[in-house]
Amino acid sequence: MTAQIINGKAIAENLLNTIKAQVSQRLAHHKRAPALAVILIGADPASAIYVRNKRLACEKVGIRSIAYDLPTSTTEAELHTLIEQLNHDDTIDGILVQSPLPAHIQDEHIIELISPNKDVDGFHPYNIGRLAVRQPTLRSCTPFGVIKMLEASNINLMGLDAVVIGVSNHVGRPMALELLLAGCTVTSCHRHTKDLAQMVANADLVVAAAGKAGLIKGEWIKPGAIVVDIGINRLPDGKICGDVDFDAAKERAAWITPVPGGVGPMTVATLMQNTLLSLEMRESAL
Ligand code: NAD
Repeated sequence: MTAQIINGKAIAENLLNTIKAQVSQRLAHHKRAPALAVILIGADPASAIYVRNKRLACEKVGIRSIAYDLPTSTTEAELHTLIEQLNHDDTIDGILVQSPLPAHIQDEHIIELISPNKDVDGFHPYNIGRLAVRQPTLRSCTPFGVIKMLEASNINLMGLDAVVIGVSNHVGRPMALELLLAGCTVTSCHRHTKDLAQMVANADLVVAAAGKAGLIKGEWIKPGAIVVDIGINRLPDGKICGDVDFDAAKERAAWITPVPGGVGPMTVATLMQNTLLSLEMRESAL
């Protein structure tokens, strides 16, 4: 069997075009465009690329993006002041703080400072909690992007045995909650899992989010399984790859996502969708 490749880039393009049409319609009705504040601290090259892609996506769909490029020396107190200001600014709909933050700033403190209704990354404990109690509002971009990608591929998730590898607050945990919401029976694996190969071998759906190149071997994949690779790893030769041994896994899986061109573009498209949703939710609450 050779798997069907899930073209995340094309699915994300479709989603961006839909959002663009929705934003144009707002403008035609004399409503303002959504606005996203993007805060980048320091000069991490990978973060700079992610932020650039997010700003380009804003431009493409007609979302106003406001750049806050701050030096590494920015203190937690200064960042706190900026976020408070943005929380109270009615012309701002989404606030994104690009991670990783410099070591002297605590990620989790900063996430909790962002108003939950402007938390377009979907990282705030309130938004994760809403997902956990099956009343999602702003959903974490990468896991929600995976769900949208599988939906667009007409893959029915109901009743599947799903294994998620990785349990981080931003990716693995909300991914497991999304799959539970979608009707899967979910197993979460992590660095202390005793027999990862066995867990993967039993899965109808494997979602890898460990950030370890080659962690998931092709021969572990159950024939006919769906394989989603969230991992982004840079190899010594500069090439980007996921966590799954793609070439071997695609010979056993029914569906597989590539890296790059799979989950990554969906994350950005979902961020745009969340920014529009954040504006619409605040308007309807007025
Ligand atoms: P993280 O380092 O915070 O978490 C990694 C998780 O993997 C941990 O829960 C850990 O227990 C688990 N893990 C590590 N080694 C393992 C092993 N040998 N066996 C089983 N589990 C193991 O990373 P993160 O922020 O969750 O990101 C995970 C990956 O996803 C990274 O490669 C990151 O770059 C990528 N990512 C991609 C997107 C995207 O849009 N495609 C978005 C966010 C993150």
